[in-house]
Amino acid sequence: MPKLNLHRRDYVSILGGDLSAEELESRLEPNFTKPTNSLTPSPFLTEKNIVRRWTSLNNEGAKEELLDPHTLEQFQAYEKNIEHFVGTVKVPVGISGPLRVNGLFAKGDYLVPLATTEAALVASYNRGSKLLTACGGARAMLLNEGVTRTPAFAFHGLVEAGQFVAWAVTQYDLFKEIAEATTSHGKLTDININIEGNHVYLVFEFLTGDASGQNMVTIATNAVFEHIINNTPVEPEYAFLDGNLSGDKKANSQTLRSVRGKKVTAEIHIPAELVKKYLHTTPEKMVQFGQMTTVGGTLSGTIGINAHYANALAALYIACGQDAACVAESAIGMTRMEMSKNGDLYASVTLPNLMLGTVGGGTGLPSQKACLDLMGLHGNGKSQALAEVCAALCLAGELSIVGAFCAGHFSRAHHKLAR
Ligand code: NAP
Repeated sequence: MPKLNLHRRDYVSILGGDLSAEELESRLEPNFTKPTNSLTPSPFLTEKNIVRRWTSLNNEGAKEELLDPHTLEQFQAYEKNIEHFVGTVKVPVGISGPLRVNGLFAKGDYLVPLATTEAALVASYNRGSKLLTACGGARAMLLNEGVTRTPAFAFHGLVEAGQFVAWAVTQYDLFKEIAEATTSHGKLTDININIEGNHVYLVFEFLTGDASGQNMVTIATNAVFEHIINNTPVEPEYAFLDGNLSGDKKANSQTLRSVRGKKVTAEIHIPAELVKKYLHTTPEKMVQFGQMTTVGGTLSGTIGINAHYANALAALYIACGQDAACVAESAIGMTRMEMSKNGDLYASVTLPNLMLGTVGGGTGLPSQKACLDLMGLHGNGKSQALAEVCAALCLAGELSIVGAFCAGHFSRAHHKLAR
């Protein structure tokens, strides 16, 4: 049998071969000398602290770029969003659209700002958006909402765990009152129980209004958690505010059938001639590609099936002041493409984990708010529409990238736009 992994190198043995054991030991040994470049200990955003940090950084070129006059002028706007502030990074923003969305909440033609350094990305969403618009717009439907925090408790054994759960399930009304005293928009909607041996996880689920809600549910759950610790008739051996069952910032499969953040689906019926006109391919080929890549995704252990939701979401999240790390969970979902009876293409996307908001977090920062304003989606009452726009945007991206692979244009487009 030929060995196909000849490129693989065993770095530990290379290090062992190139370096003597003493040299290796000395290279990796701990170093307790005082760092020469320590920063001001205060994390707060004051003019004095910014000056001190740049004195330590001692790099005029970097300072000019990061602490440009406009950033300096409005540095106080960042006070609640960053520690040890030294400036801003300029990420280029492109506009994609018009993206016509016929949703329960989003209604209209959206010009969507996307912040990225990846060439061909905005062009691809732009192409998909134009196709959706030419078809009369993507249908989009918000299906569910909810954000969880999952405190976890360890007991001596099953008996104590069971007694604790028997008590906790009688406390729902009080837990709700305690949680909702910390927020005017957050609502505790459910508590689920998960017992695993002598461990108990309480899954607190909230509605968070138009906020993405991670801070809101953390603060509200913490109030209940402290109440539990002080009042439980069965004392846990130890307990933590979150036992990692919430899926926060991790790709996880549990929400494929429920929700984390906002669950949205979007669909389109595309006449074959528009597939040809915009994507230069056929519905049949697009469906074949979908079948093959679904198997490929399954073989690779991917959670859900999609081509590249992460591209749309990362670019939109960065532009619009969302927590970009939530792309880890938000970019999970199902894309489906089928031929309809008359030979046209049916395509849908379903995203059950869209963590996003139109208030709170980074949504009020100057340029992030400006991006939400471009879509008319900043502020109260707008988060559901933003979720539907996200789903429609993901649908546009799926159509465009699948079309590019089917037409043999994928590499060519990147070569042309990025090189
Ligand atoms: P937040 O800015 O901490 O809270 C939202 C704020 O907006 C609350 O003060 C809320 O008041 C207020 N609000 C005003 N109008 C509202 C409306 N219509 N709907 C909902 N709230 C409204 O933001 P968050 O969404 O809770 O948290 C998002 C941030 O958490 C992100 O920046 C993310 O990076 C970060 N994060 C935190 C954790 C964590 O565990 N703490 C984990 C991951 C990410 P009321 O509360 O009085 O309603």
